[in-house]
Amino acid sequence: MIQVTRSSMPDFNEFCDEIKDIWDSRWLTNMGAKHEQFCGELRSYLGVPHVTLFSNGHLALEGAVASMGFPEGAEIITTPFTFVSTTHAIWRNRLTPVFCDIRKSDYTMDPDGIEALITEKTCAILPVHVYGNLCNTERIGAIARKHGLKVIYDAAHAFGETLDGKNVACFGDASMFSFHATKVFHTIEGGAVCYADDALVQPLDDVKNFGIRGPEEICGPGGNAKMNEFQAAMGICNLRHVHEEIAKRKAIAGVYSERLAGREGILIGGDRPGLVRNYGYFPVVFDGPYDRDDLHSYLAENDVFTRKYFYPLTSSVGCYRGLKGASETPAAEYVSSHVLTLPLYADLAAEDAERICDLIIRRR
Ligand SMILES: *Cc1c(COP(=O)(O)O)cnc(C)c1O
Repeated sequence: MIQVTRSSMPDFNEFCDEIKDIWDSRWLTNMGAKHEQFCGELRSYLGVPHVTLFSNGHLALEGAVASMGFPEGAEIITTPFTFVSTTHAIWRNRLTPVFCDIRKSDYTMDPDGIEALITEKTCAILPVHVYGNLCNTERIGAIARKHGLKVIYDAAHAFGETLDGKNVACFGDASMFSFHATKVFHTIEGGAVCYADDALVQPLDDVKNFGIRGPEEICGPGGNAKMNEFQAAMGICNLRHVHEEIAKRKAIAGVYSERLAGREGILIGGDRPGLVRNYGYFPVVFDGPYDRDDLHSYLAENDVFTRKYFYPLTSSVGCYRGLKGASETPAAEYVSSHVLTLPLYADLAAEDAERICDLIIRRR
């Protein structure tokens, strides 16, 4: 049986060595030694001035939005072709998501659709580097500067990637990474916000630690979203091996590309010069002789579990239906109803990837 994903683990003894210090110190959470070490290692790995760690990626994204101090009811332009966390992060801040369509070539937000959605209430753009396909950061940045908007990237899928040598963590006013167990790099659960502006340090610390600034000083109604020492220890171990992790995934993705690319009804999008990828996902758009839903069940009958990722669109979720732009994203609707992500993880055997390709080719 082949699942769509499988978490990578460090060597058991390596993790035990890493957590030994926690038994000695009895410091389990609240920005302890592992947290500080991991945070420093991430800053240099990602090449960003600031990293604020969170207990998970969703709360990191919610925190990034909260830290910018937008007025209640303000609008944020975003994509419906994403994990529902992206849209929830806007809504839960009492802000209004406005949906922009995606490009059929790489499934990221279509810069051509953004300006028509801008109103006097618009405060930010929140695009997603979906499947690790980088957004058109240059054009999105230019539109944001022209209209005085912030840009927050949901970079949950893009850890470890660079564009022309520049780490993806450097784009926009802030970028969020998820370190969930299913991601390329993980801390079991975990997340981070990366940014350059010193003014965001305090609001992000406030939002993840109850607004506590000192033993007798509470600045406002913050939440609790601290990363604990065990999560940080897992991160320290996994960061040592992230290059191997990506190399193994690249080899499997290579099998899929070689066998599937160029066949009738099979579209592998997202090609981009200058982008060093992390191979987190292998999305394929099936059309022509293929029926996506039929293929999904056929593969499952053969013990191969793929995902309709992302289906449905977040704009069709009950609370978001009818919001501005929700019914005007034909490209997102098309991709959402034709895409499957194939199994991809570091220790997926090349023979298994070959067998999956055989099944797909046979089913057309
Ligand atoms: C995983 C994911 C998140 C949420 O991260 P968690 O760490 O699971 O909370 C947000 N956005 C996208 C696109 C994701 O894939």
